[in-house]
Amino acid sequence: MSTTRPVEQFHTSGGTRIYRLPLEVFTDFVGYCYVVVNERCRALVDVGSAFPQSVEDLLSGLRAVRDEFGEPVSLEQLDAVLITHGHVDHFSGLTPLAERVRAPIFVHELDRRILTNFEERVVVASKALEAFLVQAGVKAELRAKLREMYLFAKTFIRSVEHVEVMGEGQELFDTFRVIHTPGHCPGQVCLLVDDVLLVGDHVLARTTPHLAPEKLTAYTGLGHYLESLDKVVTLPGVRLVLGGHEEPVEDVSARVEAIRRSHCRKLERFLELCREPRTVAELSMAHYGRREGYDILLAIEEAGAHVEYLYQRGYLAIENLEEVERSPNPVLRYRRL
Ligand SMILES: [Zn+2]
Ligand SMILES: [Zn+2]
Repeated sequence: MSTTRPVEQFHTSGGTRIYRLPLEVFTDFVGYCYVVVNERCRALVDVGSAFPQSVEDLLSGLRAVRDEFGEPVSLEQLDAVLITHGHVDHFSGLTPLAERVRAPIFVHELDRRILTNFEERVVVASKALEAFLVQAGVKAELRAKLREMYLFAKTFIRSVEHVEVMGEGQELFDTFRVIHTPGHCPGQVCLLVDDVLLVGDHVLARTTPHLAPEKLTAYTGLGHYLESLDKVVTLPGVRLVLGGHEEPVEDVSARVEAIRRSHCRKLERFLELCREPRTVAELSMAHYGRREGYDILLAIEEAGAHVEYLYQRGYLAIENLEEVERSPNPVLRYRRL
């Protein structure tokens, strides 16, 4: 794959070079990590997944930065590894590379325990997922399948021992300014390098980044996400946005506006669908149609995030309140107010 997708070079207004390395993070799913080089630091932003092809692509990408662009970079020579957020396609490459990465690893404090206590995170998150899916009205058989899929990708990942934290407004290596943009992930950060913004999955060129309800993980959800979109639009002088997937974005305001409109349309649609009381699983089916594999879970979470946003703000009410009062783990049915 790395032969068909070359490493791309970008320059910032201050003369920093940024190299985009394409990685097949999962089968047929491309992600990007970035090598950022100037006289003050050599840093790697994100490391891809623990999937063998992803690791191979990362190593061959680093070789290309060295051989084709003449930059003296290797895993062993880095000054820092910065993780944009605690999702497996961005950080879990640390597991197979643990022996070779000697540089300090930075992540936002709200995602640190995902990296340092991964085994605990999987147990706690899968419990929360089960409770959410019950309330969403997903049947036991499908819940078991979704749980299995959720856990599978996590089997090969181990916790990392030492991780440094980075926080809002912090300057790192006189090169990166950290902007905390929770929503897609609690510890999602954007990293501003002169006039280039590295956004992880906060703003993508074609798809709206996946959202799950805050009920599943605090600091995620649509409300936080929309606030974090405002944050990147008000940053002055951003000329180029480089994401963890898909192509670069040149007009960040226009892209953010399009993402915002897409969420508004979904909110209106879910509100309309709730003229008739429905569960989150029924809403997901009505809006997204029948999905396959992991997409079923993503669609239910996405519907859950929009329903949560509407419910938090008093646009929806729970229809089956008596049943909710009686049952220890009830299915929630929402209706429009
Ligand atoms: Zn992500
Ligand atoms: Zn991603």
